[in-house]
Amino acid sequence: MAKSALDKIKDQLVGEKERVENEIGKIAKKGKRGLRFVMDSFGSKDEEHVAGVATLDNKISLGTSLEKSLRDIDQALKKVEQGSYGVCELCEQPIEEGRLKVFPAAISCVNCQKEKK
Ligand SMILES: [Zn+2]
Repeated sequence: MAKSALDKIKDQLVGEKERVENEIGKIAKKGKRGLRFVMDSFGSKDEEHVAGVATLDNKISLGTSLEKSLRDIDQALKKVEQGSYGVCELCEQPIEEGRLKVFPAAISCVNCQKEKK
């Protein structure tokens, strides 16, 4: 991959990382053992309590998927540094550039991604 294209992707990854970290910061605090989800203050009424619990569930699932994105982004950034970005980590073939443009944190090619599922 051309260095200019790589630089662009790196920028994209850094921007995306900031965005994801920001999102995580809104719903959780980073503790020693991973994320601690911030609880909204619950009201005393039962209705509000139920709503609060549902929100916490949503936060946890959102937080889990955000954490996963963050890990993918970190991995992709590491690969940029190591010069192995854009190579599928499973079959070691180059990842389609179109895929990388849409999904810069991709670390495996479309075929391997399919097989993993
Ligand atoms: Zn592959």
